[in-house]
Amino acid sequence: MKITLLGTGGPRPDPMRYGPATLVQASRLSLLFDAGRGAATQLARAGIRVEDLDAIFITHHHFDHIGGLADLIMAAWNNGRTVPLLVVGPLGTDTIIEGMLEHVYARDINFRIAEEWAHGRKLDHPSEMLDVRVIVSQRIDLPHGVEVTVGQVEHGSKGIELSLEEWSASAYRVSAEGRTVTISGDAVEGLELGVLAANSDALVMCAYLAKDEIVTPEERFLTDKVIAGAPQAAAIATEANVALLILTHIREKSDEETERMRSEVTAVFPGEVIVGYDLLVVDIP
Ligand SMILES: [Zn+2]
Repeated sequence: MKITLLGTGGPRPDPMRYGPATLVQASRLSLLFDAGRGAATQLARAGIRVEDLDAIFITHHHFDHIGGLADLIMAAWNNGRTVPLLVVGPLGTDTIIEGMLEHVYARDINFRIAEEWAHGRKLDHPSEMLDVRVIVSQRIDLPHGVEVTVGQVEHGSKGIELSLEEWSASAYRVSAEGRTVTISGDAVEGLELGVLAANSDALVMCAYLAKDEIVTPEERFLTDKVIAGAPQAAAIATEANVALLILTHIREKSDEETERMRSEVTAVFPGEVIVGYDLLVVDIP
């Protein structure tokens, strides 16, 4: 199994980090987890053609995680993809994609279909190319023995008091070739994250802030209730007994701050720690 961190940033535009997007390649499948800013470009940099993706899994609907989703769908369609592309996401994913295709890009889609028609060719609507599934907690069996288990994680709904209909966030556990990798999405401890991550060979975990960046009440609320900082990520990985912790979704930091974050985590977590950066490839042999 191979993990490529396509984007390791967050909501703030960062010259060093694209938006959240993680590619997992296993048993001849290319699976994308989240579609943040620049995901299609980063996918090209990683050597994968956008039309060759096997599935896209969305963890939640913050703009930094889906900012590149329409770009991926439209680019795959524009590049001639016709076979269904599986898109899995939490409640609301279907209406978001419908909004993209029926409203945001409706004029572009009409243009391209009419352009092909002018050349005497028929082009199907991009919705024909999509297999969108709203999945909250379930195991998905993919070809070649790849299994993806979806579970719910806590990403602010309790702290901000939003219902499941208003806000739901998922994590994904991928099993293939005798290996298991869990992608946390944005999360703090709670709900199904611990069960999903348990004994994973690798956990790709958000760690937005280092310990010394968690100072104000807002930053404490954020890392306790919304998205793990480095101390919370270390605790979650330790509790789940994962072998390798790959930190992603990192707010802009100097090299010294990044190194300090790594030391903070290694002081607590007994396994291997990698502080992620864009286009880093991690082999899980
Ligand atoms: Zn988020």
